[in-house]
Amino acid sequence: MTELLQPTSSPAAESELRNRFQGPIVGPADPDYDTVRAVWNGMHDRRPSLILRCTDTTDVSAALRYAKASGQAVTVRGGGHNVAGTALADGAVLIDLSLMREVTIDPEQQLAHAQGGCLLGDVDAATTAYGLACPAGVVSHTGLGGLALGGGYGWLARKWGLTCDHIIAAEVVLADGSVVVADESKHAELLWGLRGGGGNLGIVTRFTLRLRPVGSVHFHTGVFALADGVAALARYREFAEAQAPDLHTVGALKYAGSQDWVPAELRGKPALFLTSVWFGDPAEGPAQTEPLFATAAGDEARLMSYAELQALGDHGEPHGNRYFTKSCYLTELTAGAAEELIASGAAMVSPRSSIDFEYLRGAIAEVADEASAFPRRDAPYIVTVSAQWTDPAQDQANAAWSRAGVERLAPWHLGGAYVNYLQDEQPGKVAEVYGTRRYERLADLKRRFDPENVLSGNQNIPPTASAHQ
Ligand SMILES: Cc1cc2nc3c(=O)[nH]c(=O)nc-3n(C[C@H](O)[C@H](O)[C@H](O)COP(=O)(O)OP(=O)(O)OC[C@H]3O[C@@H](n4cnc5c(N)ncnc54)[C@H](O)[C@@H]3O)c2cc1C
Repeated sequence: MTELLQPTSSPAAESELRNRFQGPIVGPADPDYDTVRAVWNGMHDRRPSLILRCTDTTDVSAALRYAKASGQAVTVRGGGHNVAGTALADGAVLIDLSLMREVTIDPEQQLAHAQGGCLLGDVDAATTAYGLACPAGVVSHTGLGGLALGGGYGWLARKWGLTCDHIIAAEVVLADGSVVVADESKHAELLWGLRGGGGNLGIVTRFTLRLRPVGSVHFHTGVFALADGVAALARYREFAEAQAPDLHTVGALKYAGSQDWVPAELRGKPALFLTSVWFGDPAEGPAQTEPLFATAAGDEARLMSYAELQALGDHGEPHGNRYFTKSCYLTELTAGAAEELIASGAAMVSPRSSIDFEYLRGAIAEVADEASAFPRRDAPYIVTVSAQWTDPAQDQANAAWSRAGVERLAPWHLGGAYVNYLQDEQPGKVAEVYGTRRYERLADLKRRFDPENVLSGNQNIPPTASAHQ
């Protein structure tokens, strides 16, 4: 049996845990400790004091009470994909939700009830069987918990809004171990905070998510040589800013692969990719997307299921590699900004890296600014400079490339940032992300629901916070 007693633990806390906790408990001496503690970003090799693998809401409550009674810090893991590795801390109790992945669908009401440890793919698999989907991120092994609580950009965001806009209720274990359900009629202020405030206010054990109808989508992708990149981005800007809400068009600078439609002279070199997905009547798709690809060096268009679209990005960002990400919002994509993006693409240190950018707005910006904790709904563009590599000797070079990629776009920074992409920031960055009013409202909620800052292993808003500090 796992040795629970930690230096700061107590026999009473241990006995209470053993009585109440049903799931597996994994400690440093257990053979599966290294496998179970691993998170997606291989940069974070941290050693929790104990891993409590919760199987239900009662387990989550028992885990929090144990950590408190034994005076230990906690972290919470959903899908383990946070690039900053907030799910793991040395010496803290890891409250692991990864065994809680059940999804049930209410097709009449168009709702999904998803446990707090679900991956996006779990939700997609359950919803698409009914021709429904909850708008979410673009890689299906990402966790629903962290993504939804921080916001949730994805293919359907311009048409339907963010993932957090689709949380209509949540079962939450609060820091003291008590359980509440937050919806528009009860604990509405908590629901407001869960829609964008991250994991600060409680542990969500069940999300109730509004679903939207989805069918086949028209998918069109094309490649451009870097030398033609600035002109292609001028076209992208015009196209994306005028696109219908049924269309979502993204760009990436990355090394070209050897797909049939990629010209031989571009393969194995950094290139510009644009990808446009049409969610309206599939018959209208080609006419919608073709104008963007008139000057592409190569392109491919086809009809695919929503489930296939959601899994397209899965292989490009595997577990265990080393990742460093910097991100920013841009006010506009001028020719100067386009030149900087192309120059960063040319300077990529690792061939696995990418710079991803997209024009946002649409339904994201239609939700009133004060309606949720999610900030910067007005942001026109988001850019993410993601380094990916495997050799620890390359850590500095890759992180420096990622940082420089965002810094060189400084003249066009909107300010703020997407909380789910923060990594290695200066103090005060979380306050900057939310802005004064929203940050203070979240700090008020923190004082109400987690006055001792038990849930601090996140992009933290301490109960003592003031945006003026
Ligand atoms: C490959 C990849 C692709 C991505 N694609 C997108 C994308 O398309 N769109 C987008 O918006 N973001 C995307 N992201 C960013 C993503 O939103 C964040 O990394 C997010 O934190 C992942 O959530 P997680 O549950 O997997 O993370 P974890 O590391 O498990 O958790 C991160 C934090 O979330 C909190 N948390 C997690 N679950 C719960 C819960 N149930 N209750 C309370 N708190 C919880 C905890 O505070 C934890 O510290 C992507 C990330 C990766 C690595």
